[in-house]
Amino acid sequence: MADDIPWTERELRKQMVRACHALASRGLVAATDGNVTAKLGPDRILVTPSSLSKGEVTELSILVCDLDGRLIRGRSGSKVSSEVHLHLAAYRTRPEIGAVVHAHPPVATAFTFSGREHLLRDPIIPEVVAQIGPIETCPYVTPGTRALGETAAPFFKSCDVVLLAQHGAVALGSTPWRAYLRMEKLEQAATILKTSAELAGSAEAVRRLTPAQTKDLIVNYGDPKLLGRYGLDAKRETESELVERVAAAVLKRLGA
Ligand SMILES: [Zn+2]
Repeated sequence: MADDIPWTERELRKQMVRACHALASRGLVAATDGNVTAKLGPDRILVTPSSLSKGEVTELSILVCDLDGRLIRGRSGSKVSSEVHLHLAAYRTRPEIGAVVHAHPPVATAFTFSGREHLLRDPIIPEVVAQIGPIETCPYVTPGTRALGETAAPFFKSCDVVLLAQHGAVALGSTPWRAYLRMEKLEQAATILKTSAELAGSAEAVRRLTPAQTKDLIVNYGDPKLLGRYGLDAKRETESELVERVAAAVLKRLGA
């Protein structure tokens, strides 16, 4: 279904269930961790309940809350996920998004415990550069608090995927499935980077894309706004680009 056709509540619930089950089966959450929400209307959000494994979420177990996180509709005895304020902060900051996924992807989260999170921000993996951009890390704030949402909000302004230091990650999307896919991509990227750092002997020895390569990827496949986020100028040739261009021309002349 195209993203511009309004989704019915039933369809949104179905897709949330699919995203929850995928989170559990891919090991991106454990026990009752993680939560998924979808925008149902201007002042209503579908939200997974607290204390339920994401592998056991059903269409009927999903609740409806307002923009303050208060339960509006749902099974009696159910409680809205404690992390709802993180999701509400994302909807407030980015009114165009339709869904939010919060999980604890083990490898990506481990980067924030080890102080190596800059590897996820640097231009290294082409699909991440073109499709997501630099993945920033929000400083640690106690999970489940309104303060966490407030601290994360500025990060949501420019990033669809945000790491939460010593906690987990958040992915935004037009639909629950698209947000889920970004979370899956984050963990895959983190796994590749972890292995690369191990093979290379250190995080710093991992090969980065050059500014010219980064710019080329974004110009061809990404959102031009990502150029600024990597510190690249869309118009002006960077010094590195100039050096690379001249070096390539010289090598060509020499027949290398
Ligand atoms: Zn969490």
